[in-house]
Amino acid sequence: MARRFTGAFTQQEAIPGDAIAAAVAVLQSGRLHRYNLTTGEAGEVALLEAEYRDWQGSDYCLAVTSGGQALQIALRACGVTPGDAVLTNGFTLAPVPGAIQAVGGKAVLVEIDENLRLDLDDLKVKIGSSGARVLMLSHMRGHLCDMDRLMTICSAANVTVIEDCAHTMGARWNGTRSGNFGKIGCFSTQTYKHMNSGEGGFLTTDDAGIAARATILSGSYMLYGRHGAGPDAAAYEDARYEMPNCSARMDALRAAILRPQLKHLDKNIARWNVRYAVVERALKAHNRIAAIDLPARETHVGSSIQFRLPEFTAAQCRALISCAADRGVELKWFGAPEPVGFTSAHPSWRYVAAQDLPQTDRILATLFDMRLPLSFSEADCALIADLIGEAVNEVAK
Ligand SMILES: *Cc1c(COP(=O)(O)O)cnc(C)c1O
Repeated sequence: MARRFTGAFTQQEAIPGDAIAAAVAVLQSGRLHRYNLTTGEAGEVALLEAEYRDWQGSDYCLAVTSGGQALQIALRACGVTPGDAVLTNGFTLAPVPGAIQAVGGKAVLVEIDENLRLDLDDLKVKIGSSGARVLMLSHMRGHLCDMDRLMTICSAANVTVIEDCAHTMGARWNGTRSGNFGKIGCFSTQTYKHMNSGEGGFLTTDDAGIAARATILSGSYMLYGRHGAGPDAAAYEDARYEMPNCSARMDALRAAILRPQLKHLDKNIARWNVRYAVVERALKAHNRIAAIDLPARETHVGSSIQFRLPEFTAAQCRALISCAADRGVELKWFGAPEPVGFTSAHPSWRYVAAQDLPQTDRILATLFDMRLPLSFSEADCALIADLIGEAVNEVAK
């Protein structure tokens, strides 16, 4: 009988007590809509926007209903209209191609490299061949590409960068926070991300015009003056007439839950990284497992971990999923022909025109992924890493 891990990979920590108390106060007030305020009251959403702006180090911040909505609003605020080509990663989560599709854009998929980052040589080729003026860059699974080189390439080609920071809230490249490189940063506060309000998201930018357009797009009616981290009224002169209302406002209840969590975020990032290091060390020591390199210039947030088994066949990869499951370890395999519980492989996005990505396909064929929720102890992480090693050996023998 194999040793087993008995924890749940989908179990996040409880919402902290201070956040629960703040949520109860909102419920007792009855004022859940962000603009339903009494005289002199700023409201939880406006306060959260100002606090997140300060933490992120951006000029403006808008709170919205989801990370996916932040991405859609970002595309519209950048002027993407139906038929426009939008570059994005060949390996990301479905909300990214979904946002492009929702605004009528045509996703142009860029290859990734063996460390799951955007292939910048392929990016250059695809900028040239597609004529796209926008890149929606997904920092998939927390891995930042060489952001200095990426920004040089995009600036030279006049390509606007929107960063999908769903997995990099708090991560940095060369000391700069992810989200502060491109024109817009988009974040998610969905349960499996770095702060948990069930659903939710942020859009950050230093551009007053974009902030104004995004705010009107989020459905601010003409109440944008009540935002906590928006631009001056003058920035709204055109946006207020030109931008459609997409009703994606964050509500006071979620904001109340998030504000205390933001205070704990730096501490939680350190806790994720301790767990990541425990698993990473064990995976690196295994002779068949190829770990993902974290570049020295990246400050990673290890809320999930990936590894490859370059010598495994598809049958062995499938066998590994079940050998790991026998040990209570829930692995995701990105090479499966059918999407299970998530869709990160481009052939499953049939709404996107089929594209040839041989390098990405080869990498995804033996790529595995695992969440590292903070509900796991370091001892849990050590056991899990051990069990993965055992399962790999069992399949390989
Ligand atoms: C979660 C996620 C998003 C946004 O997701 P929502 O569920 O809409 O908040 C965007 N990109 C990636 C890579 C994600 O994992």
